[in-house]
Amino acid sequence: MAKKLETRLAAAGRGKSSGLKLPNPALERASTVLMERAEHLYEPGRQAYGRMGLSAEAALCDALKALYHDAAWCGLAPSGLAACAFAIRAFCKAGDHILITDSAYGPARSFCLNQLTPMGVEVEFYDPLIGGGIDNLIRENTAVIYLESPGSLTLEIQDVPAICAAAQAHGVPTLMDDTWSAGILCDMFELGCDIAIQALTKYTGGHSDLLLGCIVAKDEAHGKKIEDTLRAYGVAGGPENAWLALRGLRSLPARMRQHEESGLTVARWLAGRPEIGRMTHPALESHPDHALWLRDFTGSNGLFAFELKMDETKTLAFLNALELFGLGFSWGGFESLAIHCNPQIRRDVLPWQGEGSLIRVSIGLEAAEDLIADLDQALNQIA
Ligand SMILES: *Cc1c(COP(=O)(O)O)cnc(C)c1O
Repeated sequence: MAKKLETRLAAAGRGKSSGLKLPNPALERASTVLMERAEHLYEPGRQAYGRMGLSAEAALCDALKALYHDAAWCGLAPSGLAACAFAIRAFCKAGDHILITDSAYGPARSFCLNQLTPMGVEVEFYDPLIGGGIDNLIRENTAVIYLESPGSLTLEIQDVPAICAAAQAHGVPTLMDDTWSAGILCDMFELGCDIAIQALTKYTGGHSDLLLGCIVAKDEAHGKKIEDTLRAYGVAGGPENAWLALRGLRSLPARMRQHEESGLTVARWLAGRPEIGRMTHPALESHPDHALWLRDFTGSNGLFAFELKMDETKTLAFLNALELFGLGFSWGGFESLAIHCNPQIRRDVLPWQGEGSLIRVSIGLEAAEDLIADLDQALNQIA
């Protein structure tokens, strides 16, 4: 008997795959994964549901594991912040104590304070420059140590090997927000970290058009712990963003070299201007942690900050006078951005010491000489 229209529409145009050999993974959208046979439905280890990721997510995770020198495990989260939050969450329960660098990305700090503290986790911030001195802060119930180097906004370089060695001696796992290095300017696992987190939103995406986070674990046991947490909360990266992030990863080293070169050119020019106070660029010799950066990093990127020796009104006028720099949050895209940081700097251990306004720029892929000309005209306008 001929099938009804509804039944025919449900079956039409399905099961087509080009079968062609293509350079990139298929962009697959699916919640349901169909099984050949009923016996397969509950078979352990079988890819049975879209939330666990399809071809694009799997290809991106493979590439990120390779980037991190054949790491054991990689998982995705819908944003960089979600990756930070779930990675921390995986390692703590009520009654635990956790140590978070005072220079951590603001929303990650807020997650700890607003979500973990009410859960009964004691959240303690530590001086990013503490180094091996962290040993004194580690307690019997310290469940995890969270690092970020260079720090958000203020770009302190942490003594990662010293902190991780102390953590290891106490059997405490270490999480690193590795967004600044994008996994290519530093080998955080070689320095002793157990888990690297990245906002792929930034340099890996590179085009300001996606939100995605990854968590990479050096060993299987840590990976399993995080995977269980991601599964429990129903966290998924999503195929489109994973596909775009993988595409970004292909050109990441080439883009990064250009961001680094232009960033340094612009930073050196700014350093010579009378309106500019302290420069916060770890690759400049004037950076207080420059020696640590030289020891641990192989390069820099286009993100840095500087002090503008002016009050808030002039600072806003300077930002408003910029023509090539967009005014907006995030960084790592092809287009240059600038923000003033003072309203969002949070510190628990030591207050942020700065004169004037801290301006953070993300140097994009425009020609450095045009960016300099733009900064020049904006500084001249407010003089
Ligand atoms: C932007 C950023 C995040 C958060 O990433 P989103 O994808 O925007 O949620 C986390 N850590 C650092 C260091 C960042 O700069």
